[in-house]
Amino acid sequence: MISNAQIHFNDSGTPVADNFDDVYFSNDDGLAESNYVFFEQNELQTRLTNHPRKHFVIAETGFGTGLNFLNTWARFKQAESLAAERLYFMSFEKYPIKLDDLKLALKAWPGLTSLSEQLCEQYPLALQGCHRLEFEQGRVILDLWFGDVQDSMPQIAYQSKGIVDAWYLDGFAPSKNPDMWQQSLFDSMAHLSQKDATFATFTAAGFVRRGLQSAGFECKKVKGYGRKREMVVGKLNTTTEQATTPLYYQQNQAELSNVAIIGGGIASSCLQYHLAKRGIKTKLFCEDAAHAQGASHNLQGAVYPNLQSEFGIPSEFYAHSFLYARRFYDQLLNAGYHFDHQWCGVLLQSINDSKKTQHSKVSQSKIFPKQLIKAVDQNEAQEIANIDTPYGGLFIELGGWVSPPELTKAVFNAAQDLQASQCHFNTHVEKLDKKEDGWYLTTNEGQFGPFSDVFICAGEHSDRFEQTKDIGIHGVRGQVSHINEGDASSKLATVLCHKGYFTPSHNGLHCMGATFEKHSKSREVTEQDNITNREQLAGFYQGTDFDKSLGSIESAKAAVRCCFNDHTPMIGQVQDKHDLLQAYENIKRGKFYDFKAQNLPHEGLHVVTGFGARGLCTAPLVTEHLVASLTQEPLPFSERVHEALHPARLVIRDMIRNKI
Ligand code: SAM
Repeated sequence: MISNAQIHFNDSGTPVADNFDDVYFSNDDGLAESNYVFFEQNELQTRLTNHPRKHFVIAETGFGTGLNFLNTWARFKQAESLAAERLYFMSFEKYPIKLDDLKLALKAWPGLTSLSEQLCEQYPLALQGCHRLEFEQGRVILDLWFGDVQDSMPQIAYQSKGIVDAWYLDGFAPSKNPDMWQQSLFDSMAHLSQKDATFATFTAAGFVRRGLQSAGFECKKVKGYGRKREMVVGKLNTTTEQATTPLYYQQNQAELSNVAIIGGGIASSCLQYHLAKRGIKTKLFCEDAAHAQGASHNLQGAVYPNLQSEFGIPSEFYAHSFLYARRFYDQLLNAGYHFDHQWCGVLLQSINDSKKTQHSKVSQSKIFPKQLIKAVDQNEAQEIANIDTPYGGLFIELGGWVSPPELTKAVFNAAQDLQASQCHFNTHVEKLDKKEDGWYLTTNEGQFGPFSDVFICAGEHSDRFEQTKDIGIHGVRGQVSHINEGDASSKLATVLCHKGYFTPSHNGLHCMGATFEKHSKSREVTEQDNITNREQLAGFYQGTDFDKSLGSIESAKAAVRCCFNDHTPMIGQVQDKHDLLQAYENIKRGKFYDFKAQNLPHEGLHVVTGFGARGLCTAPLVTEHLVASLTQEPLPFSERVHEALHPARLVIRDMIRNKI
């Protein structure tokens, strides 16, 4: 559980942390000090201009009020003809400042008002893990890692050449915060650093300098800011070859020069958007006549995370995906893209004893802030829902519903506005072939190619190609019925989740569903499924005015959710089982070293699929993670989530268990 910082403002108006008894920034012009100590002493102006990569990564210990971030963003924004097109700022914070305190603290910097307001608009809830915030249409990215920096650093997914270009070693005076200034911190900094990474720190404490030297940084003392005599800067000469991501979970990282996307649903739009954001053009192939005709075609889809009582992989995955999705969707709306939606919250109803137990475990776990999920009794539930319901439950205030087809189109339009791309509708891709110059698509409209990369986002059809036939995906058919509102039901003010879901009415209709039929890929609407949906709802709400008021079923839609056995999406390069087996055969003997090289027969071919019924919640961050990993940028998901999403996971798990 993350606790917020307790702060007060001293006589100079500077914020002070009560539990550290130290100021967040200097009493005499903290902004000028931030600029001198961190920006200038890391020589960022020159380095951003001459950087060899398209993105530059700064990491900071102690986000505090975000002053260092805001100053760096402002300097990046003002600079001209930079080699670095994108600025990543990763910051670690154990005690996030409360939003109201943050707003107050940042009032001190009128020159930064516009940036401060944007930061405050997206400032995340106090939930552990990485919150990815994007500004300037994705040119400035803030990864806020909430939690102790010592716990967070090992969770970052990275490969042996590191990721960080410059360190801002902040974090209260060593004498006031000895727990942070440890050798393990300096060693982790070295592990995460790219070659020639630099650091700057306000402190001149001898043990800090010696610790950094011992981690591999060449250190020197320079003049401190203002009245301070000294501070320390330094540079890493050789990288440490450490990595959190093992070879078998890495993504191939060739240049994404010419990209094809197969599919027209929410995942493909999000993927296209994140590629467009990085200036990468795509061609889209979709067998339907328009976007969102598959699983993304329901009238209303609920958006909410699936949270458990422990902060394991599923909770981390869903909570952060959800919070990112909300920021992403809100940014689209703020930018003028339209889709019908209501952020009216989602009420998870405790419809039986087992749900009651499960819900009370989640609310007692204290992992999640109340603004994300909170327990409500029956009275509170009735007040929130504005109808009579016999159950209490859990309320997810930030959730709601969206129109999936409109959302998909809005994301697609936003991607087009960033980077115009061609779309081929009514184009059925029959076959994929890898030739010397790249991938070719054989379709009913002729052959297209060559492509450096092909992304298959084709939902339940993702396994129809020779290269993907064994990925292990299966379809679960679901039908949603649209039922006419009545007097009482029209007042419903939130999404209800019982065993299925029920939405507030939109254009006079509620969405009620969905059925659940394993191993079926049929999209045909059936009368029986409408009856099943109606009976299920009546079973839970029988006798209520709400249920009694409902009208007749007007229409229905059926779709196929596609899932893997571990209920997790799959993103990344299509794997070949024999290739994995020969390269990593040592794993079967319990040895996680001495691997052979992979042949990667399907290099450049990727799957983005397996979202089940949760694509609206997870697709935005999952696709951002994939694109970031292919472009060798910092990743928003932790290493354990990265591994859980990787296409090699099923075979590697079987090898570890000696099942193959
Ligand atoms: N860089 C900040 C700014 O621009 O406002 C000021 C940082 S303030 C001097 C130090 C910050 O480090 C505090 O917000 C504190 O909560 C955080 N901190 C202290 N120990 C930490 C730890 N072990 N892990 C992560 N953050 C820590």
